[in-house]
Amino acid sequence: MLRGGCFCRAVRYEIDAQPTKETICHCTMCRHAAGAPIVAWFTVPPGSVRFVAAEPRRYRSSEHATRSFCPDCGTTLTYQSTRTPGDLDIATCSLDEPEQVPPRDHTFSRSMLSWVTIADDLPAWPTTRESDR
Ligand SMILES: [Zn+2]
Ligand SMILES: [Zn+2]
Repeated sequence: MLRGGCFCRAVRYEIDAQPTKETICHCTMCRHAAGAPIVAWFTVPPGSVRFVAAEPRRYRSSEHATRSFCPDCGTTLTYQSTRTPGDLDIATCSLDEPEQVPPRDHTFSRSMLSWVTIADDLPAWPTTRESDR
């Protein structure tokens, strides 16, 4: 069981699934939504996530995507696309123990900021992960 939530702890979740597609995303939309140079995500089935306190607030962040955040403190929490309805992405650093779900690659590296340096040997895909194409 993975546990996590937002910074102020108003929103808390439990996840009963094995994470997949662990990544560090460099895309411009994650960047702007989180106010951070990169955002780490992992993927689980939507039905495996249970919000056990307050519900996050959701908003449409693009034609196909919905993001959620804590309505009290603003922590970025989830991403979901209508293109992949079986996937719910969770912001890795909203976990109580982010070390449990380390990234396995970089995505949208073509959008990487000039002052961000990748200092690992993980694959870096220019856009989405190769296996998702
Ligand atoms: Zn909060
Ligand atoms: Zn992104």
